[in-house]
Amino acid sequence: AKQKGRNNYQVYTPAIGDKALERMVLENNLYKALQRAEFLLHYQPQLDINTGKIVGMEALIRWQSVEKGLIRPDQFIPVAEETGLIFQIGEWVLRTACEQNKLWQQAGLPPIRVAVNLSARQFQQQDLVKTIAKVLHETGLKPEYLEIEITESIAIQDVDFTIAVLHTLRSMGIHISMDDFGIGYSSLWSLKRFPLDKLKIDRLFIHDFISHPKDAAIITAIVDLGHALNLKLIAEGVETAEQLKFLRSINCDGIQGYFFSPPVTAQAATEILNNQTKT
Ligand code: C2E
Ligand code: CA
Ligand code: CA
Ligand code: CA
Repeated sequence: AKQKGRNNYQVYTPAIGDKALERMVLENNLYKALQRAEFLLHYQPQLDINTGKIVGMEALIRWQSVEKGLIRPDQFIPVAEETGLIFQIGEWVLRTACEQNKLWQQAGLPPIRVAVNLSARQFQQQDLVKTIAKVLHETGLKPEYLEIEITESIAIQDVDFTIAVLHTLRSMGIHISMDDFGIGYSSLWSLKRFPLDKLKIDRLFIHDFISHPKDAAIITAIVDLGHALNLKLIAEGVETAEQLKFLRSINCDGIQGYFFSPPVTAQAATEILNNQTKT
């Protein structure tokens, strides 16, 4: 009675919707993209607000697809996270960013940090610390020149394990930065529990603080709170001179955004760094 024909099977299978099909195609293409080396990193400068010097570069992934051109991370990172491909992609990002930073140092440029985004899913990986240590060893980059950007979403994983991992990374000399700060569910709780070096104020607050007076108060409070906890503050999404002026007036430490530069190719980032040393 268990012997059912192939044709019967199909009756119990829900029809594959367009969305699901699209996802399967994307998943398959992401896998191929890894093998065909279709990913690349763009870099966006992070500046010291007082000296105007570049102190870091954030690595941001792009997918150069043969069919669809340059694809932004929001369109494929979530699928990579769901499927687990993020582990391989994440390691590739880490290695490429560390290699690039090492190249900049070997070219004689003033040393800066390279900031790499890690997704929450990567913190479920038992060997995350090992992987990072291996990449640093292989690329020869000193840990103090690596910064890791996390978001509050790591709090929904095994929190104690995550905190232990962060402590280990920090004890190695790696900097830890809390990305998109202020928009999570439990910002203050995160501040209490996570070992951190820096807060990145979400660009949502920076974006229209001029038309929303509340935002200015919130940004000021975040900066003061961060400083009271011995953290550095960087504002992301800084697009105007007015925003910069305000951030300087409240003693924010760093800025990142289109006002200075959008994310650019490794080659263009190298030129920006070269030009800076000339002036
Ligand atoms: P994020 O980490 O918050 O990165 C900042 C995003 O803001 C970037 O978008 C950047 O291009 C954009 N941005 C920078 N300056 C400005 C500005 O002045 N104005 C505005 N409106 N936007 C600005 P992007 O590159 O599309 O990245 C989107 C998100 O994808 C990132 O947000 C990050 O969460 C994720 N992501 C990027 N690369 C990686 C990666 O290698 N691994 C993981 N796990 N996630 C990544
Ligand atoms: Ca980031
Ligand atoms: Ca951010
Ligand atoms: Ca974000």
